[in-house]
Amino acid sequence: MTKLGQMKHPQSDDSQADDKPHYDVVIIGGGINGCGIARELAAKGYSVYLAEARDLSSGTSSWSTKLIHGGLRYLEHYEFRLVREALRERETLMKMAPHLIHPLRFILPHLPSMRPKWLLRLGLFLYDNLGGRQKLAGSHSINLKQDEAGRILKPEFTSAFEYSDCFVDDNRLTILNARAAQNYGAVIQPYNAVLSAQKTENGWQIKTEKQSITASLIINAAGPWADQVRSLSGRSSNDKKLRLVRGSHIITDKKFDHDRAYIFQNSDGRILFAIPYLDDYTLFGTTDVDHEDSPDAPEISDAEIDYICAEVSHYLKQAITPEDVRFTYSGVRPLYDDGASQAQSATRDYVLGYEEDTNDSWLNIFGGKLTTYRKLAKAVSAKIENILPAPSNNEAGASYLPGGNMANGDFSAFLTSVQREFPTIDDTRLRRMAKAYGTEIYSILGNANEPADEGIDFGCGLYQAEVDFLIAHEWAKTADDILMRRSKLGYQFNDQQRRTLSDYLASHPALS
Ligand code: FAD
Repeated sequence: MTKLGQMKHPQSDDSQADDKPHYDVVIIGGGINGCGIARELAAKGYSVYLAEARDLSSGTSSWSTKLIHGGLRYLEHYEFRLVREALRERETLMKMAPHLIHPLRFILPHLPSMRPKWLLRLGLFLYDNLGGRQKLAGSHSINLKQDEAGRILKPEFTSAFEYSDCFVDDNRLTILNARAAQNYGAVIQPYNAVLSAQKTENGWQIKTEKQSITASLIINAAGPWADQVRSLSGRSSNDKKLRLVRGSHIITDKKFDHDRAYIFQNSDGRILFAIPYLDDYTLFGTTDVDHEDSPDAPEISDAEIDYICAEVSHYLKQAITPEDVRFTYSGVRPLYDDGASQAQSATRDYVLGYEEDTNDSWLNIFGGKLTTYRKLAKAVSAKIENILPAPSNNEAGASYLPGGNMANGDFSAFLTSVQREFPTIDDTRLRRMAKAYGTEIYSILGNANEPADEGIDFGCGLYQAEVDFLIAHEWAKTADDILMRRSKLGYQFNDQQRRTLSDYLASHPALS
């Protein structure tokens, strides 16, 4: 076993002196966990190299329900530590990224046949008080006969509870963690899969699509691919630690006019959310289905569509049918296989485990949530400090993510000032950009008085200035990188507009 301080940093380690660049830590996977860990470790002075096979945040971190939440339902599974930790993180993350993370109120309609009211009140009391809530409003009961939230519900729903959680842009949260990591000195390499990893006396020889490097430690943050990545070092692919559980969402045209979400209790004991999405849509989800196939391109099944439609329609005056579905998406939860019989009961907590026979030089990340990525990163940092002492005492801690440094963390006030400064720019676009870029909006709009000042108009409020910013600062390479992950304009773009954008990217000097 390697003991505290036994491993040396490369500067002092002659055996690493070959022509391959050496890093203290190589992180495999650029989802929320990999990028969050890169931020934390780079802040501590470790030399960090993050390799991502595709675009950053193109795996599970793209396909979540997009909530920064404590997870009310986990209280039922007695996961109090997870809920407390997540609620505390909710407070911290709101401060770090007030442009990406916004309060959202949830309506929980109730019937006498459901979980008893006293149990829900107790759960919500804990939820309000476990995590040091400061900014968000507390829970209370509402009368659905009077509240507009009752309008879309069947008349038998006369009462509900209302409580707070937050909505997040999951892709941008991930990408901005990568940006923060880079600001601390990490090397971030999307479109660069790790192909093999060979154990040496002092660490690892690693081959990626772009180069060969060496590392003292490897962190496997490959989410649902973590078992596949474990086999890159020669381990049997039958040795599995993950339980892959697919979760799918459907997107319909907007089904209600207010800005709150619903949480519905299903007949099978699960819950489903209905969330206002991108101004024009409603997002419904999610499911829990054991996923036996490859995690590469998970797709919703007809049975999942029917399930979501049927369950939410128990609540709604106007049923949702498969014909209402405009878009769908699915992601695979990389859960640690704790042997739970039902997919919905498998733990959502994260598990960190050293790979056997690697002298603790290979750390696997299993599970985790967007909400707790920062805690997970800190736990990883504490663990590896026992193996390779941190070069500095700095911490990324709760420092702002890029664009998050707005006065008092007050997004509304920030938006008002941006609207005042750019009166000629369309308000829908300005809101979208303020939410995506926060205070960095000035780096894109500069002194733009008219859209013409921003170069080529690609349609739907996307101009060359924004595209160039995304190429220069956020590793964007393809139309999907821009339209589906760094913005959600892909839901509006037509084929011709997409082609024009792709042609522009194909001839962009920074991408050739
Ligand atoms: P990923 O995001 O999948 O990242 C792993 C990365 O590794 C991928 O990008 C992949 O391309 C890369 N990779 C794989 N192999 C290689 C290789 N050989 N070389 C280099 N890179 C490689 N959490 C919340 O907090 N709130 C929610 O509302 C929420 N909703 C969810 C809803 C659903 C349906 C699902 C599925 C999950 C949800 N989660 C939610 C959980 C959360 O989304 C995940 O736990 C989290 O995104 C996992 O991130 P990750 O970084 O571990 O994995």
